[in-house]
Amino acid sequence: MRVEDFAPADQKLLLPQPGGDLVYQCLGCGQTHGIEKLLYTCPDCGQVLLIEDRNFDRLKAVPGPAWRRVFDLRRMLNLPALSGIFRYHELIAPVVPLDSVVYLGEGHTPLVRATARLREAVGQDFCFKNDGQNPSASFKDRGMAVALSFINYLINHRGVGKILSVCASTGDTSASAALYAAYLAPKVASAVLLPLGKVTPQQLSQPLGSGASVFEIPGVFDDCMKVVEHLADNYQVALLNSKNAWRIRGQESYSYEIAQDLDYDVEGLAVLVPIGNAGNVSAIMAGFLRLLDLGLITSLPKIVGVQSHHADPVFRYYQETDLAKRQWRPVTVQDSVAQAAMIGNPVSMPRVMELARRYDQRAGRPRFFVVQVSEQEIMDRMILANRHGHIVCTQGGESFAGMVRAKELGIVTEGDYAILDATAHHLKFIGFQQMYFDNAFPPGFGVTPRPELVNAPQQVRAAGLSQFPAPGKPLAGEAFQDFVKATAEEIARRLGLEAR
Ligand SMILES: *Cc1c(COP(=O)(O)O)cnc(C)c1O
Ligand SMILES: [Zn+2]
Repeated sequence: MRVEDFAPADQKLLLPQPGGDLVYQCLGCGQTHGIEKLLYTCPDCGQVLLIEDRNFDRLKAVPGPAWRRVFDLRRMLNLPALSGIFRYHELIAPVVPLDSVVYLGEGHTPLVRATARLREAVGQDFCFKNDGQNPSASFKDRGMAVALSFINYLINHRGVGKILSVCASTGDTSASAALYAAYLAPKVASAVLLPLGKVTPQQLSQPLGSGASVFEIPGVFDDCMKVVEHLADNYQVALLNSKNAWRIRGQESYSYEIAQDLDYDVEGLAVLVPIGNAGNVSAIMAGFLRLLDLGLITSLPKIVGVQSHHADPVFRYYQETDLAKRQWRPVTVQDSVAQAAMIGNPVSMPRVMELARRYDQRAGRPRFFVVQVSEQEIMDRMILANRHGHIVCTQGGESFAGMVRAKELGIVTEGDYAILDATAHHLKFIGFQQMYFDNAFPPGFGVTPRPELVNAPQQVRAAGLSQFPAPGKPLAGEAFQDFVKATAEEIARRLGLEAR
């Protein structure tokens, strides 16, 4: 539908008006800083930032049900700028005018309910939210769409010149950053830093294909991050890691979509999300809090962060239930199949601490939890899900394994409806599936394949044939017919097919 096709009363809020008074708010000293300069950490104390709208209360003039209606009507509106995560413009980045919104098809990923067999197998009703169906095949596109839309706005309307964007990455951030930057070329160029040998070949190919400058650095992600921070502190570059608070804003859309897709009824909901650098889990909590503030929802879902025992600093922190004894300690990571979450010193930890505190406080009871799973469980669960028609990557397997653990611990209960974040597309991490099928995991992972989950191609070379077709050398006549018949019979034999 076009704007003029809507009832006049509905047209009023259909197109968002630029507004809001957005500032960077420091999570350390509490100072606020203007957004006209790109900031990643507080210039006063060095702590990470969140973006707050000092004029957020203006949105409360519109009651919750009216906001629901606005967002539902925008579903029907054919306008690219409002077709992705900017459907929730007022909640995401109201300072960005629609002409600067970059839309590459991100957001609105499906909730796919687990099959009856899978639900019965684990005794829980649940679904996957397939964030691998974003343009660069991970949820990172949500945040990147906002970060690049804001940069586009600075270039279009604020006289900012050409920008070089940089990020460190476990693979998906760089794929996303390079994609969105390429869309804005030549106004924006991108450089990405990757830990050598610690991203998959598919993830490495993505920024290369987008034309980014790709640098491979010895060490793990945490080392790359320090180099990128040095670059951002000392040179004219735009940092696109989740230190960039605009990305957190964009990733809040994950919560908005869940609420909208469930008709804003989030009672009894539990959301399971893998934690790496902890940007996503922060954003999901911030998103639900914002919806509650505006009266779009009336309760807060449980949020369950999941970490592998090979990279679990957030889990360890929250393990300590005595608040006085709780102490933040980064960990040294070990090899993990959930490679995109293999981070020992998450940049967004101060955001998690702050948002989890606010979240539990608003709910009036604990609603934020962190569980730990093994590498073995991650792989087994990923493959099991994919065998039931899902598209789950290793991190999605981590969400699944996390749900099972959360059930054991009584965090997720039978009456809950669980949403599992399948954070990237399965194909990005396909090498881990192959290692599982080949029983080829290096000992450090500690993964042994379960025979019933292993699969391999079978070569068929029917016995009794003297000639086989080859590329560029087709068979003809009787030889071809013999080949077709013998091969089909051999396959039928192996499958145990009955003749008709
Ligand atoms: C980045 C990423 C994560 C971890 O998210 P954080 O926001 O860093 O906690 C998990 N899964 C995938 C596929 C990712 O790309
Ligand atoms: Zn500060």
